[in-house]
Amino acid sequence: MTMVDNNRTMKAAVYYGKGDVRIEEMPIPSAGPGELIVRVRASGICGSDVMHWYRAGRGPLVLGHEMSGEVVDIGEGVKDYEKGDRIAASHHVPCNTCHYCLNDHHTVCDTLRRTNFFPGGFAEYLRLPPINVERGIYRLPDSVSFEEATFIEPLGCVYRGQRLAGNGLGLSVLVIGSGISGLLHVQLARALGSSIVVSTDISRFRRDAAKRLGADEALSAEDDVPARFKEINSGRLADIVILTAGSVSAITQAFRSVERGGSILFFAPASGGTPVELPVNDLFWRNEISLTSSYAANYDEHMKALELIRQKKVDVSAMITHILGLEETAKGLHLVEEAGESLKVIIKP
Ligand SMILES: [Zn+2]
Ligand SMILES: [Zn+2]
Repeated sequence: MTMVDNNRTMKAAVYYGKGDVRIEEMPIPSAGPGELIVRVRASGICGSDVMHWYRAGRGPLVLGHEMSGEVVDIGEGVKDYEKGDRIAASHHVPCNTCHYCLNDHHTVCDTLRRTNFFPGGFAEYLRLPPINVERGIYRLPDSVSFEEATFIEPLGCVYRGQRLAGNGLGLSVLVIGSGISGLLHVQLARALGSSIVVSTDISRFRRDAAKRLGADEALSAEDDVPARFKEINSGRLADIVILTAGSVSAITQAFRSVERGGSILFFAPASGGTPVELPVNDLFWRNEISLTSSYAANYDEHMKALELIRQKKVDVSAMITHILGLEETAKGLHLVEEAGESLKVIIKP
């Protein structure tokens, strides 16, 4: 087997902090026992890549966890993969044996929080450690492009969110916020057979996108959202409210928009650490309302996402607005951060 020439260097986009991303040369990683080297073909920019408070103090680092590519080098002992295999890979993988993993909470596992591939998706090559090779690879069917495959991770997270919130056939859904995750939630709710799907956003561009991708109605965040939802949904509020925005006003709107017996999914972190008053007596007590949250996704949820993409039940291609080269990573991050006329921004290193 031919090895990647380890004297060669590659380019990576290194994040130092808000507005400071530098293209740097670094050695191409080599494959130790049990490892794989992947030539990165596409990496999606995630909203969390521009949550600077979340990244603060961790830099310099190479971001990019929504990646796909081709296997180019195989470490000793790896039997299941060959050069040229088209794959997507998880950056974090669980232990599968701890208390959390055994109780369907792989995404809060300590191992999941410690593991990572190297150096990150915004680089020409990356190395998958043995544990990632063992339990974090998704083979791509020929019909799924590298660009579409970057959605396996974000759609997996969205799938987990709706699963934990109990969404399913015949339920009405309100999605607050129509960025990438909001739009994926809209499409997934449709794919799961929700009766009514309504979204909100302050941006006209995103409201139009939500309508185009299957929302029955896309409301302005300034509308009387609960009242409008009731008009559309035969007098009832939403069975499932999904928060992809974290402002106090968005959270308050969620409280006022949930139907008896329904649930609210906190999919996004709250902004600014502002305390939110929980209206236990006014809204929740006697009404059997559940508040739930979700973070990341497990292996099965990523596989489910891949299948939804393959079957085009979720049309991820329609959400790609920008495909940029590695040198333009800073521009891509800026596009995502300003949240103007962009949806999915993909880097092709
Ligand atoms: Zn992500
Ligand atoms: Zn675990």
